[in-house]
Parts: sequence; C-alpha cells; structure tokens
Amino acid sequence: MTFPDLTKAFELSSKLLEAKTFHDLNVVLMKTLLEIDTIEKVSSYEILGRNFRDEKTPEPLIRKFPLSLAEDFKDEFTDIVKDIALHGEPGVSFLTLEHEEYIYIYVNKGEPPEKLVLIKGTLDEYNLEVVRGLAKIYDHQIRLFDTKERDILTKLNNRQTLGSTFEQVLDFYRNREPEELGSYIALLDIDHFKHINDKFGHLYGDEVLIHFANIMRTTFRHSDFLFRYGGEEFLVIINQTNDNGVIAVLERFRLAVEKYEFPSGKVTVSIGCTRINTQQAVPMMIEVADEALYLSKTNGRNQTNILERSAKQFVDNDIEFF
Ligand code: GH3
Ligand code: MG
Ligand code: MG
Repeated sequence: MTFPDLTKAFELSSKLLEAKTFHDLNVVLMKTLLEIDTIEKVSSYEILGRNFRDEKTPEPLIRKFPLSLAEDFKDEFTDIVKDIALHGEPGVSFLTLEHEEYIYIYVNKGEPPEKLVLIKGTLDEYNLEVVRGLAKIYDHQIRLFDTKERDILTKLNNRQTLGSTFEQVLDFYRNREPEELGSYIALLDIDHFKHINDKFGHLYGDEVLIHFANIMRTTFRHSDFLFRYGGEEFLVIINQTNDNGVIAVLERFRLAVEKYEFPSGKVTVSIGCTRINTQQAVPMMIEVADEALYLSKTNGRNQTNILERSAKQFVDNDIEFF
C-alpha cells in the first residue's frame, strides 16, 4: 500500500467512525460509495424479520432507508432485497441479475440488527478492497449502536433513538400534503405493576415485562416503532393509519394483554394516544399522549383514550397573555 492509499483509508474509516447514529452512519456510507465512479446507485435496507404466516415461503419484512412508512412499500430493488434476505451471503457479495451487476453488503444475517446495502454497479479490485474495509467498519458500528439503542431486558428500542425516529417520521410528513392517514404516538403503561413486584418479586416483574414486549411485537405491524420508554411504560409510533384505525389496533393490543396468561396471572394496560403533527414539538405531543394515558388511569384503567390536543396547553397559552 502506498502512502496516499493509506491516508485515504484512514480518511474514509474516520468518516464512518465519526457518525453518532445509525442514521448518520448510513448517510456517510451511501455518500462514500457513490463517490466511486463505477457505482451507479446505492440503496439501504433494514430487515426486520421474516413473516412465517406461510411456512413454505417466509416473507422478509424490510424497511428502506431513509424511512418508508407504508407497510407495503415497493421500489425497484424490493424483490432483489427480499431474495438476498432469503438466499444471500453475509459480508460483501456480487450478484448479476438480468444483465445488471450488483454488489451487496449484508450485516448480521438472520438476527437483529439485520442490514443490507445494495449497490448497483461494478468494482475494480482496488475499490472492492476499499468497500470490504468500509463494510467491516459498518458492521462493527451497527453492532455498537445496537447495544446502545436496544433495551437489554425486552430487546425493544430504548429511549436513545426516540428523537431520531421522530425526526424521520416528521420528515416523511413534512414533504407531503395533509392526508387522511398519519402517524400516532401511543403510551402503554402496565396497570398496578408495583403490586406485581410487591406480590411476586422483581424477577417475576421482569418476566412480565418480557411477555408484554412480546405481545407488542406480535400485535403491532413491522412498520410501527416500538420502544421501552421507562420502567413499565412503553411507547409505540403507529404509522399510516387514522383515528378509527389506531383505536382498533390499540384496543386489539389491550385485549391481547387482558387475555394473556402471564406468569403472575392477569395483567392489564392503560393506553393514551395522540396524532403526530408536524406543527408541534415532540415533547408536547408526548405530553398530550400522557394526558390521554392519565385519563385512562383515572377513569378506571384497562382502557384506551385518544386526545387531539392538550388541555394544559390552553392554560399555558392563557397565562402567556398576562
Ligand atoms: P399504575 O396503574 O398507576 O400505572 O400503577 P403502577 O404500580 O403500575 O405504577 P407506578 O409508577 O406506581 O410503579 C411502577 C413500578 O414499576 C415501580 C417500579 O419499581 C417498577 N419497575 C420499574 N422498572 C422495572 C423493571 O425493570 N423491572 C421490574 N420488575 N420493575 C420495574
Ligand atoms: Mg403502571
Ligand atoms: Mg408508569
């Protein structure tokens, strides 16, 4: 390796290492790859799992980066990506399809966080080595971010990525005309969880949280975002639906919890929800969902309430006039 090559290698790797989030890492990697002359297009995907409703042909569930919120989104590469998710190799590989040349970087095949970067174009021997090097750093950073961003107990996202996820959701709606379908924030808070801990002990309490998270994973769609927000409080961003749709899905979840046989017996959940709008600050929207949750708690628990805006907001606005 010559001196300029070495300098370039350090330069490229430090660019990737400087990225603080998965979002930034992806932007840097895609930009760097596109600087290679023989690369035509780069597309990045997250593989969220495989849908085994039909056992013979599991359907990979994918999310494109930057965010595509629709559950059934499709782009020119969707079919190729799904095929790689089923039959592809981890690491850097080549693929020729209908006389088109592709290279893909496949990280963590079969286990989260599973990521795939699809590159349309070719690479000479030198650039292939560069891409292999970048792929290794990308792989390490993806794993590192995952340990930071995932809750150890429930394996859901922790609060760390809440801000950047909201930013992506808001970006999605900022560039569009107001539509009937939108995204919603729901806060899910387990009822009388302290009793469960007091009666059965903390370990049983932890077990309940794991089961609760599993019910979340099976009830919400793969295009929704699930977070452990605090101790026994969870937050879901429910995408591309309307008021009736979101109430239906939240009620389905509430009833699934009510029916579930937890190790400690019956458990119920109270839910508060609000629609996301691009005009309001995120903390304010969470506050509105929290007020809706408070309504559910004070009205007898084990129920869902949706609020459009905060009652407190008006009080604050009034105060500002004086
Ligand atoms: P409410 O119906 O009003 O929501 O009552 P609650 O008892 O569920 O709510 P409260 O906020 O009074 O208590 C929450 C409890 O959750 C207290 C805390 O010790 C427990 N908790 C928080 N994090 C964890 C955890 O990781 N594991 C376990 N086992 N318990 C936790
Ligand atoms: Mg609670
Ligand atoms: Mg609570």
